[in-house]
Amino acid sequence: MNILILGGGGREHALAWKISQSANCDQLYLAPGNAGTASIAQNVALSPEDFPALKLFCLQNAIDMVLVGPEAPLVAGVVDFFRQDEELKNVKIIGPAQAAAELEGSKKFAKEFMAKYQIPTAAYRSFSSGEVSEAEAFLESLEAPYVLKADGLAAGKGVLILQDLQEAKEEAKAMLEGKFGDASKTLVIEEFLNGREFSVFALTDGKDHIILPVAKDYKRIGEGDSGPNTGGMGAVSPVSFVDDALWQKTVAQVVEPTIKGLSSESFDYTGFVFFGLIEVKGEPKVIEYNVRMGDPETEVVMPRLKSDLLEHLNAAAEGRLAEEKIEIHPEFCTTVMAVSEGYPGSYAKGKEITGLENVSDCIPFHAGTKLDGEKVLSSGGRVIALSAMGPNKEAALAKSYAAAKTICFEGIQYRKDIGFDL
Ligand code: ATP
Repeated sequence: MNILILGGGGREHALAWKISQSANCDQLYLAPGNAGTASIAQNVALSPEDFPALKLFCLQNAIDMVLVGPEAPLVAGVVDFFRQDEELKNVKIIGPAQAAAELEGSKKFAKEFMAKYQIPTAAYRSFSSGEVSEAEAFLESLEAPYVLKADGLAAGKGVLILQDLQEAKEEAKAMLEGKFGDASKTLVIEEFLNGREFSVFALTDGKDHIILPVAKDYKRIGEGDSGPNTGGMGAVSPVSFVDDALWQKTVAQVVEPTIKGLSSESFDYTGFVFFGLIEVKGEPKVIEYNVRMGDPETEVVMPRLKSDLLEHLNAAAEGRLAEEKIEIHPEFCTTVMAVSEGYPGSYAKGKEITGLENVSDCIPFHAGTKLDGEKVLSSGGRVIALSAMGPNKEAALAKSYAAAKTICFEGIQYRKDIGFDL
């Protein structure tokens, strides 16, 4: 098969790495890809949101399958575009249609879906732009901390957790008045949940599903989960506190009712469902849905997947997931993200990355890199995810950290405590 992956981060490198191992993979392309994907696939300089250009590329290169990595093209309707175009009818596209992508694109929509299908989540209310005083009154009825969420996509910045009631009221007003543009003109205020977070991923064809390895990511920039949020500083899989009892509850109370809900709503959904979960006193609760794989979780999930991802994707596209059996490697996988100095604030790009050829027993998944002739340069805040396997967490981490010390670029930073809390 000829496959086109949309996106150019560590997630897409990990997906490409796994798919390239399939006997069924002929030509593999990434739009736009990065320096890492260039060594296993062909990068094409196309934007994942330029649908007409993607169409042309698919037709000219006999693409059989398109796998959508990031959320933006999904929320913008790339799947609907492909489905509605007669010339693209033989191209399998992996991702939900726009209506279902609202599970990630609108927090209000996701909360309403969870309420309808009785999926455990934080209690909430939503408010629209004319309802500032109602939002303030609701905040007064709650106890700190206050959780405010912009309804729409806000590049990971649209969630505020505040201790002070007055500040929460001011922020609620600012959000409803457009602090995050249209994304916050609808506001979700919800109960604060205190617990440990973990991530679960399913691949669905809209009626059946398979579940991928569980993972935990580390969102804050600083050790001990301090400082501002980032796109993710590292991840581990499996997760020690997700024991059999919590896992069974997660499957029965969250994963299965969600997939049933997708089917009851008749959503066109072929693709990954990401469940952002929190364990509160032994009970799983959904914090968020994403309609694609997570980053950097994909960088620990893909190495643990023993079975053929391309076969699973093909089965999903053909509505045959009920027959699929997933095989998971029993080993641990960890990833440590090397980031640019200053990230998640402003940072310099274009720093030469050296030492990659000396990395051993570790898979460096490129997140923000580009080629400049023979040189590999940084091109983003998150630069390289260093993923390693081991018989236990410690062994895997030792390899991830050895690799982090082996590579070098000016201003390289990484967290030294990934996985230490588990
Ligand atoms: P991301 O871009 O990181 O996926 P997001 O902007 O879509 O996030 P959420 O995942 O809903 O927003 O929230 C971001 C983070 O805020 C969560 O990972 C969690 O740590 C925290 N959070 C969200 N909701 C709650 C809650 N109800 N109680 C406690 N913490 C919460």
